[in-house]
Amino acid sequence: MTISVFDLFSVGIGPSSSHTVGPMRAGADFADELRSATPTVRAVHVDLYGSLAATGRGHGTFTAVLLGLEGNRPETVDPDYVDKRGAEIEATRRIRFAGATDVPLCTEQIVLHPLTVLPRHTNAIRFRVELADGGTHEAVYYSVGGGFVERESGAATVNPLAGTRGVPHDFDTASGLLQLCPRTGLTVPQLMLENEIALHGGPSDIAEREVRDGLLHIWSVMRACIERGFRAEGVLPGGLGVKRRAPGLYRRLIESDGADAMDWLNVAAMAVNEENACGGRIVTAPTNGAAGIVPSVLYYALRFRSSLAARRDEVICDYLLTAAAIAVLYKKRASISGAEVGCQGEVGSACSMAAGALAQIMGATPAQVENAAEIGIEHNLGLTCDPIGGLVQIPCIERNAIASVKAVNAARIALHGDGTHRVSLDQAIETMRQTGADMLSKYKETSLGGLAVNVPEC
Ligand code: SF4
Repeated sequence: MTISVFDLFSVGIGPSSSHTVGPMRAGADFADELRSATPTVRAVHVDLYGSLAATGRGHGTFTAVLLGLEGNRPETVDPDYVDKRGAEIEATRRIRFAGATDVPLCTEQIVLHPLTVLPRHTNAIRFRVELADGGTHEAVYYSVGGGFVERESGAATVNPLAGTRGVPHDFDTASGLLQLCPRTGLTVPQLMLENEIALHGGPSDIAEREVRDGLLHIWSVMRACIERGFRAEGVLPGGLGVKRRAPGLYRRLIESDGADAMDWLNVAAMAVNEENACGGRIVTAPTNGAAGIVPSVLYYALRFRSSLAARRDEVICDYLLTAAAIAVLYKKRASISGAEVGCQGEVGSACSMAAGALAQIMGATPAQVENAAEIGIEHNLGLTCDPIGGLVQIPCIERNAIASVKAVNAARIALHGDGTHRVSLDQAIETMRQTGADMLSKYKETSLGGLAVNVPEC
């Protein structure tokens, strides 16, 4: 499967790519499929399985599914509308299926199967409609992480650009990517750019402009999210009573004219993840839970490296393209889903992406980029997913801050070397996959183990 940089970095809403963005996308896809039959729809049934059922309430899955069935999509829906419309649905106990037909359905009527895992992935949704002529129509969707959604019938994905369209420089492994660079004379971001231009119907100047503008738009959404998080005071929703810390830290940094790079990494990452926890506008990177790391490292680089700030647009594009090249490896060879491999697949992958991308914009060779990405994942191996109360708050928010600092350190270590190292990125990714497969399900986004059971919710 070809994976677009715009599927990896997709604009959506918080708090979770697999539990909010993916389910909304699945609901919208199902509603679209039945658009011509909408007037004859009499009832809609929703079943959630595995991790979606176990932590769906805290992750906003139920409302996301219902709004998806009304025809809303995560990339365009207004985050404020989600809350407002969700409350209306609960009050009326009805949804407007595909935006056209009123049918009885609210979050209480969603049937939960937390202990049932369907064969393809733990995040599964079954939709079934009853039609006026007595017929029914049913479909099963899997939200496989990072907002990617697959249908049970076939390999089809409902993401905008992912598909089987050919690209000039296809790669499945880091070693394959490293071979392509000297063979083509291209850097990692240049290879990715040519692939993306092909996905946009190129090669042509128009396709290249479209890709570059799209990448700059992604950064503008990431940056806006950081800046909103710097200013939005208050307590996060969900009942844990977690106070937003980014605004206070930001104020102290501004007042003290703070030049400490580590503080800025921390505050930018926490700002994004606090926005995510509030259901705000977020870019998956590669997921929502880990969405603070890639933006905070780029924010840091542009703030503290004047030589990079001077080439801002080029640096942003190279950074995001390199991060996406690394994410492709995790998506193809392992997983970016916390429900499948634990947090190592989310925060670990994001740390690896940011490390490799930072090394790239600081002038690394392809071998040093691979080295930085490998260090970024190696020291996140085994990281479990155990969010308290099923909310993407603790440990997620601080964990993004910690991993951002780790990513910068990984890039620095790699840049001090010549790219040769003992553990390859491919070996580390395979280790992550195996470790995830061995991890007990209570540590994979079910909130049945770890901090989720050892820390009281109130
Ligand atoms: S612990 Fe990690 S994988 Fe789990 S919800 Fe939080 S950020 Fe996502």
